[in-house]
Amino acid sequence: MRPRAALLALLLVAPALVASPEEPPRRVVLVSFDGAGGLERLRQSAAGTFGPDGFEKAGRIGLAADRLVVVTPSLTAVSHASISTGASPDRTGIVSNWYLPAGRPVGQRVSGFEETPAVETLWEAAARQGKRVAALSWPGVSAAGPRQRTALGFLWVEPRERSFVIRVPGAALTEAAFALPLGVRSFSPPRALPVRSPHEGEAGGALAGLAFAIVDGTDDGQRNYDSLVVLSRDGQLVARARAAEWFALSERRAEDRGDEDVLVGRWCRLVALSPDLSTVSLYVGGLGSTEAWPADFRRTLDREAGFWPGAPDPLLLHESPPDRRGFVEQAARFSRFFVAAFDVADRRGDWDLLLAYQPVLDEAQHVLGPPGAGGEGAGERARLDAAALREVWRVADEAAAGYLRFAPRGDVLVVSDHGMRPIRRVLNVAELFRRNGWLRAGAPAAGRPQVAADSPVDVTASGGAAFVAVNRAGQRPGGVVTDERADALLAEMKGVLRAMTDPEGEPLFEAVLGREEARPLGLDHPNSGDLVLLARDGTGLRASLPASPDAPLLSTSELTAQHGFGPDPELDGLFFHVGAGIAPERVETFPSVGIAGRVAGRLGIQPPGELP
Ligand SMILES: [Zn+2]
Repeated sequence: MRPRAALLALLLVAPALVASPEEPPRRVVLVSFDGAGGLERLRQSAAGTFGPDGFEKAGRIGLAADRLVVVTPSLTAVSHASISTGASPDRTGIVSNWYLPAGRPVGQRVSGFEETPAVETLWEAAARQGKRVAALSWPGVSAAGPRQRTALGFLWVEPRERSFVIRVPGAALTEAAFALPLGVRSFSPPRALPVRSPHEGEAGGALAGLAFAIVDGTDDGQRNYDSLVVLSRDGQLVARARAAEWFALSERRAEDRGDEDVLVGRWCRLVALSPDLSTVSLYVGGLGSTEAWPADFRRTLDREAGFWPGAPDPLLLHESPPDRRGFVEQAARFSRFFVAAFDVADRRGDWDLLLAYQPVLDEAQHVLGPPGAGGEGAGERARLDAAALREVWRVADEAAAGYLRFAPRGDVLVVSDHGMRPIRRVLNVAELFRRNGWLRAGAPAAGRPQVAADSPVDVTASGGAAFVAVNRAGQRPGGVVTDERADALLAEMKGVLRAMTDPEGEPLFEAVLGREEARPLGLDHPNSGDLVLLARDGTGLRASLPASPDAPLLSTSELTAQHGFGPDPELDGLFFHVGAGIAPERVETFPSVGIAGRVAGRLGIQPPGELP
C-alpha cells in the first residue's frame, strides 16, 4: 500500500507547493524549425497553407514576431550558438559552419556544430541550476565533449551507408530463379531485380540475404507487371510495393558498435515501374540507426519511432521526371520522426527544458527553390517546386501542432535560425585566391589540392559568407607573413575584391570588411580572421580548391537557395512564444539573442553567463 500512501501525501501537500501557473518555474519546450523564414511564414499563412493547430494557433494564443532577427552570417551553427547562449558570434566565437579558428595552422578546419561557444549555453546554465535538459538533435548538443551533452538526447546522424537508385532496363532482367512464397502469385514470369550497393566498401546493411522480384499480380492474360516483392533468405515475404510506394527494410542487431539491441534500417521506394518493364527505378535509402542517450531512451525510440529514417534525399529529384512527391513524403517521415521522439520524451517527462529540432524546411528549400518563386510567369519546374515546398511547409505546420500540444503543461517557443535567399551560381573563393597568388596550393589529398602549410592566406566559406585569414608569423603555427606584409596584403585583397564584378559588370560581393569593420555585424572575433566577405544576391561561396586549375571561378549552383549572407529581412527567422500569462500579441521583430534569457526567465533560472 505504500505507493497509495505516498500519492495521498502528495495530493495533500500539492496545492501549497504549486505556484500560480503564470509564475516560474515552468517547463519549457524550445523548438527550432531550421530554415523557416519569418517573412515566408507570413506569405504561406496568407496563402492559406496552414491548418488551425500549428503556426496559426501559436500566433493566435501567444506572442508572435513577424521576424526573428538573426545574427550574421545566418548559418545554422552560428545562429543556433547565438540562440543557445544569447550572445552574438563575436562572443560565442562560432562565426561559421566551417572555419579556421584563431591560432590554428592554415588548412585546418573545424565544424561550428562541434565547437563549444566561448560563453555558457542555455543547457549548461539550466543543468548548473538543477534543471534537467533534453536535446533532440539540437544543433550544438553534439555529444563531442562534456559541454555538449544533456541528460537526455539524440544526435543528428549521417547515413551509415549511402542511398542509391537501381535502374535496370527491362530486357536485362532475368527470370527469377527462386520460388515465390505462398500467397504471392505472378501471372507473368517473375523477374529478378539485382539490388546491390554501388558504393565501394558499403556492405548493404539491411539488404543481406534479400531477394527482389518484379511480379504481375493481375490475371488478365497479358504480360504486364505491377509490383515489386522482397523475399527473405527463407523465402518469406518481407515487403511488397507498387509504383510510388515506400517500404522499410530493417534488421535488429544484438550488438552494434558497442550498443545492444539496435534497430538499423533503410526506407526504399519503387519510384517507377512500367507494365512492360521498360522503366524500373528503385530508390534504396541510406542506412540509418538512432544515436540516443541514455540507452533506454534509444531503445524506446527504436520501438516507437522506428529507425533513424534519414533526411529528404535530393537523389529523388535527380529522377526523370523529378520525384517531388517521394521527396515530400520522405520529408514528412523525417519530420514525424522528430515529433515522435518528442512524444517519447514527453511521456518520460524527466526534463524541465526540452530543445527540439525540425530540419525539413531547410533541406527542402535548398533544392526546391527559394521562397516566393513559382509565382506568376514562373516556368513549369519552378511552379512544381513551389507546390512541393508548400507541402513541406504543411509538414512543418503539422509538426508545430505536435509540439504545441504541450502548451497546457508548460511553455512552447517556436523559433528558427534563418530564412532563405535564391542563388543561381557559386563563386569558388579558394580558387580565386589561388589565382591572385594569395593562397598557395599544396599536396593533394583525396584528389584535391590542399592549402599549403606556407600559404600566405587561407579562406573558408559557408553559404554566402567567407572568412579570410592571413598566415601571420607568431600568430599561427608555421605562420609566414610579417605584420607589415600582412597590412599590405590586406589592402591589396580589399581593393581587388571590392572591385570584382561578374561578366555582366555586377559586383560579386555585398561587403568586404576588415575585422574591425565587421564589428557592427557582431563578427569582431579572432576566429573571423582578417577579412569577412559577404556575397551579393544570387551568389553562394565555396572554398575548396578544384581538382583542375582550369575549373571556372563561377559555376552554376546545385542548390536553388542559400543563407548565411549579410543582414536581410528575408533571411530572418520566425518566433512564437506560447505560455500561461503570455498575452496574444503580434510584434514586428524579436532578437534571436533574446531567446536564451527569455527561456531562462520562464524556467526560473539565471540566464547563461560567462564561463567560470
Ligand atoms: Zn539552418
